Amino acid sequence: RLDIALNNARARGLSLMYYQSGQDESHQRELTIIRDLPLALKSGQFSVVFQPKVDIQQQRCVAAEALIRWQHPQLGFISPMEFILLAERSGNISMISHWMLKAVIGQLASWQQQHPQLAVAVNLSAADLLDDSLPGRILGWLAEAGVSVTALTLEVTESAVMQDTGKVVANLQQLKAAGIKLAIDDFGTGQSSLAYLKNLPVHELKIDRAFIKDIEHNTQDALIVQATAQLAMGLGLSVTAEGLENQAGLSRVLAAGCQQVQGYYFAKPLAAADFSLWLQQFATDNQRFFTTMVLAP
Ligand code: C2E
Ligand code: MG
Ligand code: MG
Ligand code: MG
Repeated sequence: RLDIALNNARARGLSLMYYQSGQDESHQRELTIIRDLPLALKSGQFSVVFQPKVDIQQQRCVAAEALIRWQHPQLGFISPMEFILLAERSGNISMISHWMLKAVIGQLASWQQQHPQLAVAVNLSAADLLDDSLPGRILGWLAEAGVSVTALTLEVTESAVMQDTGKVVANLQQLKAAGIKLAIDDFGTGQSSLAYLKNLPVHELKIDRAFIKDIEHNTQDALIVQATAQLAMGLGLSVTAEGLENQAGLSRVLAAGCQQVQGYYFAKPLAAADFSLWLQQFATDNQRFFTTMVLAP
């Protein structure tokens, strides 16, 4: 009998979870994703896309962010917003990070002639920063591929660098000493402050899209972005506005003092070949992004 079983379970201090059918389905999906991840990495279901980071002061593009994509044979496209979290929880994130780093370093190697100035950023998770072996591995992969350390940037969130352990700082220091740059991702959404970040070897601050998406209408957002950018620049950090989608916002982020912009306004994340074409086109035809529209009287 169910009620007896439940009472027995409670008596033994067990807590029971109830799944409704909808929850059960999403639970099943999570299990499938976690189960399939390791093999999917080995069987070509993952790919990398690149999104330009444009220097809006110099009107040039010399950097990009690499973002992972998963095309699952049954589930179709799975967003990294969904599977990165599950990989973190199931202890599989380092596999993904290693795969990404190797894929991006390989791509950088083949872009050396065509795009010698290009730096690409790879996202790392909190667990990666606790791994003492990661800095050495990264430097090894770069050396093997003949890629300069200056071509690689690492992006980590505020909460990842805020982990209260000396390990994180030691690993970041080792990477910095080797010449690899560090960006703080999604800045403004976490609990950290610029006062805390000044003690870390940070090179770039990426202001979260939450503050950028309505910047042309929202005066408060504009003020927050401006104050953050001024302070960050005062501390010697480069400032990137994330997720800019339109030209009206561009004038605002420029006025706020942001140096770089990453967002759909310039380009969506693109497959390697398309990104390379975009870079070439942008180098000759970037004016159309910056000319402010003149309205007829
Ligand atoms: P993120 O690192 O903050 O990356 C920026 C996200 O914003 C990307 O979503 C990008 O496609 C999206 N984005 C860029 N411009 C715009 C815009 O103008 N409008 C809007 N609405 N969105 C824009 P994506 O690729 O879905 O990635 C989501 C998150 O998943 C990333 O946020 C990052 O936290 C994580 N992620 C992606 N790839 C990796 C990876 O290789 N490793 C790890 N650890 N995390 C990753
Ligand atoms: Mg990022
Ligand atoms: Mg971000
Ligand atoms: Mg984000």
